[in-house]
Amino acid sequence: MKFIDPSFDILTDISDGGIKELKHIERCGRVSYRSEDKITEDGESAKKFVAMLIKNGHESVLEHGSLTVEFTVDRAIANELVRHRMASFTQESTRYCNYSKDKFGGDLTYILPFYLKHGYDVYNRITEAMANDVEYKSSVLYSEDDTVFDYIYYKNSNRAIDNCQEWWDDLCKFCNYRSTIDEVSKSYLTTVTAPGYFTDMEGVVPESTPEEARFLLPLGLATKIVVTANYREWRHIFKLRCEKHAHPEMQRIMCSLWLVLNRKIPVVFDDIRDMVNEYLDDDQGLMNGLVATDCVNIGLRYFRKPTIKE
Ligand SMILES: Cc1cc2nc3c(=O)[nH]c(=O)nc-3n(C[C@H](O)[C@H](O)[C@H](O)COP(=O)(O)OP(=O)(O)OC[C@H]3O[C@@H](n4cnc5c(N)ncnc54)[C@H](O)[C@@H]3O)c2cc1C
Repeated sequence: MKFIDPSFDILTDISDGGIKELKHIERCGRVSYRSEDKITEDGESAKKFVAMLIKNGHESVLEHGSLTVEFTVDRAIANELVRHRMASFTQESTRYCNYSKDKFGGDLTYILPFYLKHGYDVYNRITEAMANDVEYKSSVLYSEDDTVFDYIYYKNSNRAIDNCQEWWDDLCKFCNYRSTIDEVSKSYLTTVTAPGYFTDMEGVVPESTPEEARFLLPLGLATKIVVTANYREWRHIFKLRCEKHAHPEMQRIMCSLWLVLNRKIPVVFDDIRDMVNEYLDDDQGLMNGLVATDCVNIGLRYFRKPTIKE
């Protein structure tokens, strides 16, 4: 089981400063007014023309330009993306992909949602500290099957960890996610690789095809989905998906895409800026809250003792 952050890759080649793309829209749009003579080579007339189209709501002209983006997101976000009917999609198939094969690293890959990032970080730090703690490993309390929680209790008894409620909650949330999908991953991988295996029911389960085994897979599974849409539809998608009512994971990926795209192609997406700024302000606050707690930044030595919930 692997965790990755969501990401995207813009598959369409975009010219320097997006001038070629803007000029293409201008060339198409000026047919309306038969004002092709006003086109300037440097793209400045295109910028003004496209801004005028958007201001006046003549957005059908923007349909002459399109973009293809490959997203790596969780399957729930992919489900939301395919609701955009004006776009075209190609998605990784859980019917044909067998995640036990070498090209997938023989394993399932999950999206690490932002709300679990802190817990994930804490988990990795504790796991690393645990692996390097010679004193712990030679203590009578140590067992090879120990979890991070066993180690926390050990450190706690040694008075090396102080209170830190936020840290504890985040670790528990992450471990809950991790242990559940670990079980699911093992079941999936066993059924698609083994010709048969013994279950708790003392029966033999025959090998499953990926399309059968996929019923076990959770929404957190990472998937690749390629989306092609014209600029008008991308603007519509940004307006719905960068907005604060969209799912936080959707806001994260779409606001990030907007930030990159708006630098590559000026004017076309610029008026969505306020929405993205609102997200960035919130996110900045949220991320600061998530990563800047003293117990994480200064390492396990200074970790504070968790308050153990009843
Ligand atoms: C915050 C949020 C919460 C949501 N919650 C839910 C939910 O709980 N359940 C749920 O099922 N969905 C939900 N959705 C999905 C939502 O209902 C839309 O399916 C999705 O946002 C696609 O939007 P759209 O139809 O405007 O856009 P697109 O399909 O991208 O179409 C673009 C535009 O083309 C036009 N258009 C497209 N098809 C037609 C048509 N057949 N007839 C007329 N005009 C058309 C419309 O003007 C439309 O806005 C949610 C979306 C958001 C953003």
